Amino acid sequence: MGTMDGEKSAIMNSIDRYAVFGHPIKHSKSPRIHRLFAEQTRQSLEYSAQEVPAEQFSAAAKQFFAEGGKGLNCTVPLKELAWNYADHKTERAQLSKAVNTLALQPDGSILGDNTDGIGLVTDLVVNHAIILAGTRILILGAGGASRGIIAPILDQSPQAMVIANRTVDKAVNLAAEFHGKGPITGCGFDDLKNRQFDLILNATSASLSGQLPPLPAGLLAENGNCYDLAYGNEPTAFVRWAKENHAAKSLDGLGMLVEQAAEAFFIWRGVRPKTRPVIELLNSERQL
Ligand code: NDP
Repeated sequence: MGTMDGEKSAIMNSIDRYAVFGHPIKHSKSPRIHRLFAEQTRQSLEYSAQEVPAEQFSAAAKQFFAEGGKGLNCTVPLKELAWNYADHKTERAQLSKAVNTLALQPDGSILGDNTDGIGLVTDLVVNHAIILAGTRILILGAGGASRGIIAPILDQSPQAMVIANRTVDKAVNLAAEFHGKGPITGCGFDDLKNRQFDLILNATSASLSGQLPPLPAGLLAENGNCYDLAYGNEPTAFVRWAKENHAAKSLDGLGMLVEQAAEAFFIWRGVRPKTRPVIELLNSERQL
């Protein structure tokens, strides 16, 4: 519940408004997730989805906050624009050069944060009991999602982290940016031959078009786990690959989606919702 002091009296009867901006946004699960969180924590708020192409982002965000909006989530293709839009940023957002959560501050400024990385780590470590410390981790892809997850995973002290990407330079450059934070290198898919990993994370957008990066046989270590950041109502191409390669766990990104939302909800409302019932509900609605 918002505080209702003097300054806010003009809007004291209006409900706190939040939204997700993106393009396309029609199939976003975020409004549903945030409404479930609000119900569960008895918070009174409104959360909508708004179709916002990149060229309209700045004007749309300005209008949203001018009209009393309290916070925004930003998704594809707006995370870099949201990073530029924020007046100030958390350290993790600063590092990831992408912002998925904007929050109105008491002084009227807009704080930018990135909750994707912590959302993934929480899903892996807490929900699925996957240990990251001392393991060999491979991240496929070197786009915005990879950038957001590298630092939170390195914080878990893996033995080695490799970023592999179709455009090799992007992987090498991205790894170089994080050299000071842990044992990380970048390479192309061809360089993965004769290597083995305990955890393979797919952060390419290939799954969205039913495709799979070229992965050599034997890439996944015995008892290794696989996680696709993408998710769908059917198993993704990478989740199917994981099962064919006998992964101990073959997971997709629905849990990460719910966890990053919970972190955003906490930033906005100061209340941490329980994620398990929401993940279970969304999982029960799809046939995996
Ligand atoms: P970007 O567009 O920034 O990056 C896409 C990456 O995928 C690039 O590395 C690109 O390689 C690679 N790629 C695309 N197509 C192929 C292909 N056919 N074969 C091999 N590599 C390919 O996307 P994002 O980083 O923003 O998103 C990546 C994925 O993560 C998406 O599926 C998105 O849905 C998911 N995601 C999930 C979240 C969640 O909460 N579950 C949160 C954030 C993202 P190249 O550089 O060579 O073009």
